[in-house]
Amino acid sequence: MGRAAESLTQVRERLLKLRNEYQQRVETIHAHARSPLEADSSEQAAQLGNVEVVQALEAEATGEIVAINAALSRLDAGTYGICVTCGDTIGAARLAARPASAECVDCAGEHARH
Ligand SMILES: [Zn+2]
Repeated sequence: MGRAAESLTQVRERLLKLRNEYQQRVETIHAHARSPLEADSSEQAAQLGNVEVVQALEAEATGEIVAINAALSRLDAGTYGICVTCGDTIGAARLAARPASAECVDCAGEHARH
């Protein structure tokens, strides 16, 4: 069969690198969000307009960090790559696209429809 699957060590390294990137993103968001009341009124208005966008970005980043931590735990437990909902194997392409994936494409699709 074709190329050998990515080793667990490589997966762990990718997860840790990703987590680092998301942590830096959260820190950047916090640095920019600091003391909005000190800005003048026009800057403040612009900032208030961005609050929802910034909060969405932060929520996405913190959500990914949680997902990555869970993936690292599954890696330690030997259950990485197995869907947490149905127990099927998560496709290699899906894991390559999003290494922190906890569910197979079918289960993730179920959530997306609700
Ligand atoms: Zn599943």
